[in-house]
Amino acid sequence: MANFTPKETYTKISDISIDYLKDDLNIKGLIFDFDGTIRVNKRVSIDTLHFLKRAKNAGFKVSVLSNNPHVSNTILKTLNITTTQKLAFKPLKKPFFDMAKRMKLDPSRIAVIGNNRISDIWGANRAGMYSIYIQNLNSFFYKRKVKNNLKNIGIKHVD
Ligand SMILES: [Mg+2]
Repeated sequence: MANFTPKETYTKISDISIDYLKDDLNIKGLIFDFDGTIRVNKRVSIDTLHFLKRAKNAGFKVSVLSNNPHVSNTILKTLNITTTQKLAFKPLKKPFFDMAKRMKLDPSRIAVIGNNRISDIWGANRAGMYSIYIQNLNSFFYKRKVKNNLKNIGIKHVD
């Protein structure tokens, strides 16, 4: 059965524990999704910038794997992320394995961080990577989901 369940869930990247990944799980590399994960609502937060810096200082290899063919090179350059793949066709396993090869890491030593349960979480799980789900509380889809849930229990108007 398809496994859409992440190993960890956070509302923002900066809540991820670098120490836990490194010391307890022996993770060596991080594969980030781009849209809705690194870039949320058309911007990259200072918290995310700091997290990326801390992750690199801790010795992690960092890459970006995105299904979007138009990921901004300027942003990637600013973030100093050189190992990237656009138009990746997640959740296929191949793009995850190809990225692991480029990072020179075994898939089991990699954590995937993304905001999509199908392309990122399911993809990571089937590739044998550690999956971390970023649940963006400001996204249009999340707000609609909350609204629908409230409607289902009889609450119609929420401001
Ligand atoms: Mg995304």
